Amino acid sequence: MSGLVMPELDTKTLSRRAEIVDALRDIVPGEGVIADENSMRVFESDGLTAYKTLPFVVVLPETVQQVADVMRYCGEQGIRVVPRGSGTSLSGGALPLGDAVLLVMSRFNRILEIDYDNRCAVVQPGVTNLGITHAVQERGFYYAPDPSSQIACSIGGNVAENSGGVHCLKYGLTSNNVIGVELVTIDGEIMRIGGKHLESEGYDLLGVITGSEGLLGVVTEVTVRILQKPETARALLIGFPTSEDAGQCVAEIISEGIIPGGMEMMDKPAIHAAEDFVHAGYPLDVEALLIVELDGPEAEVDYLIGRVEEIAKRNKSTTLRVSQSEDERNTFWAGRKAAFPAVGRISPDYYCMDGTIPRRQLPVVLARMRELSDHYNLRVANVFHAGDGNLHPLILYDANVPGELEKTEEFGADILRLCVEVGGVLTGEHGVGVEKRDLMPSMFTEADLEQQQRVKCAFDPDHLLNPGKMFPQLHRCAELGRMHVHKGQVPFPDLPRF
Ligand SMILES: Cc1cc2nc3c(=O)[nH]c(=O)nc-3n(C[C@H](O)[C@H](O)[C@H](O)COP(=O)(O)OP(=O)(O)OC[C@H]3O[C@@H](n4cnc5c(N)ncnc54)[C@H](O)[C@@H]3O)c2cc1C
Repeated sequence: MSGLVMPELDTKTLSRRAEIVDALRDIVPGEGVIADENSMRVFESDGLTAYKTLPFVVVLPETVQQVADVMRYCGEQGIRVVPRGSGTSLSGGALPLGDAVLLVMSRFNRILEIDYDNRCAVVQPGVTNLGITHAVQERGFYYAPDPSSQIACSIGGNVAENSGGVHCLKYGLTSNNVIGVELVTIDGEIMRIGGKHLESEGYDLLGVITGSEGLLGVVTEVTVRILQKPETARALLIGFPTSEDAGQCVAEIISEGIIPGGMEMMDKPAIHAAEDFVHAGYPLDVEALLIVELDGPEAEVDYLIGRVEEIAKRNKSTTLRVSQSEDERNTFWAGRKAAFPAVGRISPDYYCMDGTIPRRQLPVVLARMRELSDHYNLRVANVFHAGDGNLHPLILYDANVPGELEKTEEFGADILRLCVEVGGVLTGEHGVGVEKRDLMPSMFTEADLEQQQRVKCAFDPDHLLNPGKMFPQLHRCAELGRMHVHKGQVPFPDLPRF
């Protein structure tokens, strides 16, 4: 691991391995516990493959009761637990620890209920994102958040990472589309938060759980909204002589009150890589390409296409094509959707960053990124969820060249600091995990981080769930609960103390 410091291994747990494995086998019988080194290798990493650790033991429960029993056992015995869905996290959220049970939720793969009257589906967390759409599409419905990894990533992982995708600009992120979860805490309690009803009473705990990266509990059931497919969807492919022009076009489309179903941008290296790979018909003589999708009733879509064309021309677009069929629309998207693997063909390795900026800052950030690229002597290909201001710079490197991974990580950290500097945030949709953990202080003060850890302490006071992720430094929960008494004066002396 390149300089990544993880929590010290708990020697007491390590010394009791055989006994712990036996106890877990009692809870999850059959093939649900994997303890031999070779079989555990497939779990040693997630989508952030730069980091690898062999798990202590892998457990694949099949029932909620098994999850609760594993969690209660681990909680009582002080054993760490790392939840895992499909392992596609790009921030190392599911990176195993050498002394932690890796709790893999992939056997929770059933759609439990489809309730068209309430326009929702109740699913187990191991169901893939696309699996939900497949289950409801024959009735003309779909699940809106669409990460590019949707064929593989699990809805439990989506909840943990608050995942997004092309259509989230108009239809919202996971947090806007999940209305209920069942969660098992580290003491084995099974909690239900939210449900089919639209408003829940009390604090917005669903908002706390969504994006909690496996640090608060293990999600064992998810209730999601399902939406009716729009009547029409058409896409525009628009080329620009500079990224600045494309960025300005994006800003003007939004400021004129148009919310496209999706609005994505690619820079020249990404356009060329994607075109070579899937032959989507992208123009190769442009510096930036926008794909703008408009959806809704046909008349509205036709009208909006006209308005987007006007805005594009005003912003010096040099090519503009409107999809004339569903096949053509899919072809426009095929290149964008294959952009990551396409870039994988032009470089031995790439490192995918994920930060968010105010849309207006796009030209500034792109220019600074070019300077950084020269400084580090590393190429970058850029794909963005342009409408959301969510950047995905792909830094191209070769892990076999000594020092190049470290240089890439420094470059990536500079990009994320730049996002914060221009008023944006460290994350977009890939979570903090281990990747951005040590950069958290560039965005949050110590007081902010302590406050966030108080939430963690309310669910997991011994920090047994996914430690080493998200927080650069863990405080003992007792320490966070301390009260500072200055010269014998307690704060708020009128409040009763107990
Ligand atoms: C090629 C590629 C493209 C991608 N594109 C996108 C994209 O467009 N948008 C996007 O948002 N992401 C994208 N991702 C990232 C990734 O797919 C998402 O973060 C996804 O939500 C992870 O789901 P998973 O099931 O693989 O979770 P994992 O990787 O297994 O785990 C991710 C995190 O969730 C926690 N977790 C998993 N399951 C549970 C559970 N049941 N209960 C509690 N915690 C749990 C883990 O502890 C970990 O912290 C992409 C990844 C790849 C490899």
